[in-house]
Amino acid sequence: MDARHVTEAGTTGQIERMTVINVALPVTTARNHGIGAVAGTVHNVLVKLETSDGLAGWGEASPWAAFTGTAEAAAGALDVHLRPLVVGRPASHVTRIMADADAALVGHPEAKAALEMALYDLMGRELGVSVSDLLGGRFRDEIPLSVSIANPNFDEDLELAERITNDGVRLFKIKTGVAGHAFDMMRLETLKDKYPEVDIRIDYNQGLTPLEAMRQVPEIDKLDPGFIEQPVRAPHWDVMKNLRAAIRAPLVADESVYSPHDALRAAKEGLADAFSIKIMKSGGMRKGQEIATIGAANGMPGYGGDMFETGLAHLAGVHMCASTPNITLGCEFYQATYYLKEDLLEETFPATDGKVTVPTGPGLGMAVDEDKVRHFAIGQQA
Ligand SMILES: [Mg+2]
Repeated sequence: MDARHVTEAGTTGQIERMTVINVALPVTTARNHGIGAVAGTVHNVLVKLETSDGLAGWGEASPWAAFTGTAEAAAGALDVHLRPLVVGRPASHVTRIMADADAALVGHPEAKAALEMALYDLMGRELGVSVSDLLGGRFRDEIPLSVSIANPNFDEDLELAERITNDGVRLFKIKTGVAGHAFDMMRLETLKDKYPEVDIRIDYNQGLTPLEAMRQVPEIDKLDPGFIEQPVRAPHWDVMKNLRAAIRAPLVADESVYSPHDALRAAKEGLADAFSIKIMKSGGMRKGQEIATIGAANGMPGYGGDMFETGLAHLAGVHMCASTPNITLGCEFYQATYYLKEDLLEETFPATDGKVTVPTGPGLGMAVDEDKVRHFAIGQQA
């Protein structure tokens, strides 16, 4: 008998139905991020799991074509390849179902994150406990919120900076490596002068060539940013290591580290000082926790990163950060509050006073507004 065999009877009811919904969500402004730009709408994929007793769990894949993948691929992965692993099984088999998902389908971390999120949401609602409890128990109730400065029009970002500092935000991340080194230096200097109380970080999103990085990163380091994230393309590990040795600020790996395997290699080789942990890269909250655990063993903290997510995917990130002691550098779950024209949750995402408050209710702790989902839907596979 397979040592990993689990019976089909679980502690929760069987999933009878899985619905995959493509949505197009309008955003408030254009954004430039190193390797790519965003304007107009972002395209995400929702998954709804339903049991015979009327309970539902929701998940979201938030791909970005220039970074992790496409919404079309995520929807296809869920509809064609992951659906047969889920229907007829209980949500309490999430660990086994996700192992089966990895065996059946290479890559597609956003689709797997969506599935895992929906399974945990459903299991939490059935058992009456929050996802952070299911992930090991809550370690923190609040997570400091970082908001990104990424608008090509810096005057508009100055207005945003005023608004978010008035809201209590004390972490900024300037997106650099897009419109020239002088623009990057000017923005960091201006914001540091204006907001000395704010911890201002830098994120190049792979925007520099290795030769540009050798000159520009040590210069921006002299302005004392809180950290510097991913200056060069993901595969340039040797360049990352050289930059790390040349600067004082902590170097954060984002695009270079997707999986626990990447994290272990990064820890062994001294790639960076910290990890940006994103469920859309790792393929879910549990693997994000594994990355954080590897980091903890090597003195490397985690930062709660995100993609162009709604409040739904944010909530999964929030529960992961809440239940993982080593994710100490805050989070950037700001899209639902400061970037999307409209979120998909029934109630306002809990980002206030510069922090995200971890919901305590069952599952992900907040409800999806199905009228809004229908309004923004552009396709569905039931
Ligand atoms: Mg990043």
